[in-house]
Amino acid sequence: MALIVQKYGGTSVGTVERIQAVAQRVAQTVKSGNSVVVVVSAMGKTTDGLVKLATEISSNPSRREMDMLLSTGEQVSIALLSMALQEAGQPAISLTGAQVGIVTESIHSRARILRIETDRLERHLQKGEVVVVAGFQGITDGQDLEITTLGRGGSDTSAVALAAALRADACEIYTDVPGILTADPRLVPDAQLMDEITSDEMLELASLGAKVLHPRSVEIARNYGVTLVVRSSWTDDPGTRVVSPLPQPRSLEGLEIAHPVDAVEFDTDQAKVALLRVPDRPGIAARLFGEIASQDLDVDLIIQSIHEGNSNDIAFTVTRNSLNRAEAVAAAIAPALRYDSSPTSGEAEVMVERDMAKVSISGAGMIGRPGVAAQMFETLAAASVNIEMISTSEVQVSCAIRAKDCDRALSALCSAFDVTSSPVNQVQKSLAYADAPPVRGAALDRNQAQLAIRHVPDRPGMAARLFRLLADHNISVDMIIQSQRCRLVDGVVTRDIAFTVAKGDVDAAKAALEQASPDLSCGEVVVNQAIAKVSVVGMGMVGRPGIAARMFESLSQEQINIQMIATSEIKISCVVSEEDGIRALQAVHAAFGLAGTQRVEVSA
Ligand code: ADP
Ligand code: ASP
Ligand code: MG
Repeated sequence: MALIVQKYGGTSVGTVERIQAVAQRVAQTVKSGNSVVVVVSAMGKTTDGLVKLATEISSNPSRREMDMLLSTGEQVSIALLSMALQEAGQPAISLTGAQVGIVTESIHSRARILRIETDRLERHLQKGEVVVVAGFQGITDGQDLEITTLGRGGSDTSAVALAAALRADACEIYTDVPGILTADPRLVPDAQLMDEITSDEMLELASLGAKVLHPRSVEIARNYGVTLVVRSSWTDDPGTRVVSPLPQPRSLEGLEIAHPVDAVEFDTDQAKVALLRVPDRPGIAARLFGEIASQDLDVDLIIQSIHEGNSNDIAFTVTRNSLNRAEAVAAAIAPALRYDSSPTSGEAEVMVERDMAKVSISGAGMIGRPGVAAQMFETLAAASVNIEMISTSEVQVSCAIRAKDCDRALSALCSAFDVTSSPVNQVQKSLAYADAPPVRGAALDRNQAQLAIRHVPDRPGMAARLFRLLADHNISVDMIIQSQRCRLVDGVVTRDIAFTVAKGDVDAAKAALEQASPDLSCGEVVVNQAIAKVSVVGMGMVGRPGIAARMFESLSQEQINIQMIATSEIKISCVVSEEDGIRALQAVHAAFGLAGTQRVEVSA
C-alpha cells in the first residue's frame, strides 16, 4: 500500500462543488489501495480577503496577529473537506498545523519548518482515515505554542514537508493549470506543458516568479528526494514531474534550516572583460553578445549595472584562452558605442583582467536564506579576499575574485560551511545536459524593487556588512551587482552596489541601509519600484554559447531597454521597466521556441 500526500490549492477548493469533487478524487485514491494525507489551502481568494481586512484596520499590522488571522482560512477548508469525505463514505479527520505537530521557527509570517511530529498522523492513517491537514501554518516550539505561517503560497511547502517526514511514496500538487508550463499561461497564452523538469530548474523558476510551486517546497523535494508531481485538479492527465538526483541522506531534524550548502566549487580558468560607459539604450547588450556568440565564445557570468547618467557598465567572464578574442570583439565595437551623440564625449572603454577565479557555494534555497550569501561574503572578507563580481541564484552563489586569492578563499569557505571543495567540471556538466533544451522555461517577477547604494568604499568586507545587515532583517536579496566603474570620493575609491528585493521588503531595506550608511561611509540609497525582472532558466544553457545573446536580441527587437543583467550557471535575468514586463516575457519565451500550438486551459 502506497502513502500519498495530495495538496489542493485555493481555486481547487474554491466552492462547495469543487470541495466535493476533491473529496471524490481523494476517496478514489484510497479505493485504489493508498493511504492519503491531504493538504489544503484556504478557499479561493480567502487569504487575500483577510489581508485586505487587516489593512483596513492597520497600515502596519503586527505579524503575530496577521498569522493568527491568515491561518483561519485553511481551518475552514480542512473542516469542509473532511465533512465532504465523510459524506462520501470515507472516514476522515481534519487537523490544524498545531494538531499535526508541524513545528516551526518563531518568525511570524515566514517561518521555516523545524520538524514534523508524525505520531498522531500515523495513528489516524492506521485506522484507515484520510487526514486533512491545514496548509501554510505551523506552531512554535517551547511553551508559548504560537501559531505561525510559512509565507504566501506556503501550502505547497507544508505538503512536501509532510511527504518528506512521512517518507511518502509521492507528493501530488493539484492546481488550476495542467502542470508546470514554459511560462505563466495567464501572461503567455501559448505556453506549453512540460512532462518533467529538474528540481534545480524549478527552484530557479519558482524563485524568479513562477508561483505554481512555492520555492521552499522544491527545496525540500530536492533535499529529501521526494517524488513530486504537479497536476490539474480537473483532469486525470499526468501533469509534470519534478525530478531530483538521489540526495545525500539527511536528518529530518531542522528540516528546512539544516545544511544549506552542499558543496564549494571553484574554477580557476576565468578572465574578465568589462566595457565601461556604454550607452543606456535598447540593443547594446544584444550587439555585444551577438558578436561574442558569432565567434562561438562561451560566456560565463554576465553583469550589467544600473546606469549612471546615460551610460552603463557591462562585464563578463570567459575562459582565459578566449580572452584575447573576447577583448578584440569588445574593442572593435567600443568606438561605435558612444554614450551620447556629441563627438567630444568619451566612447566606451574596455578593461580586462586575465587572472580571475570563480568560487561558488551550491545547495538549495540560497536566495530564500539571506544569511547564507552574507556568510559567504563575510568569510571572504575575513580571508582578505576582494570580491569583483557576484552572481546569486537559488542553487548557487558565486564570486569572481583574483586567481591569486583562490586557495585562501576555498579553505576559508570549506571550513565556514563544513564541506569539501571540488573543481568545476564544465565539460561534464554540459555533457550531462546535452539533450536538455538550453532554456526550459521563462518567468516574470513583478514583485521586485531595485535598490542601489552609491559610493560604497571598494575594500573587502563591504558586501559582507551590507548583506549581513539585510539578512538580519530577514530580507532576501537577488541580482547583486557592483559597478565596474570607480569613483574617488574624498580620496577613497568607491563603487555603486545595486540589487533587487521583494517590493514588500523595500522600505525596511532602505531604512536599515540609511541608518547604517554613515557608519559604513556609503552614499545615498536610491530606490526604483517600477521594475520587472524577466528570466530564462535551463540546465542545457551550460556550455552552450549564444543563449544570452539570443535573449538580449529578442528584447532589443521589441525596443525594450535592459536596466540590469545578472546571470548564474543556469539562469539569465534582466531588469526592465515595469510597463515592459509582460511584453519582455512574451518576447523571450518566443525567442527560445518555447511557444506551441496547444492552448492550455486556465481556470478562473
Ligand atoms: P494554487 O492555489 O493551486 O496553489 P497558485 O495560484 O498558487 O495555485 O499557482 C498556480 C498558478 O501559477 C497558475 O494559475 C498560473 O497562473 C501560475 N503560474 C506561474 N508560472 C507558471 C508556470 N510556469 N507554469 C504553470 N503555472 C504558472
Ligand atoms: N492560503 C495561503 C495563500 O494564499 C497559502 C497557499 O495558498 O498556499 O498564500
Ligand atoms: Mg500556490
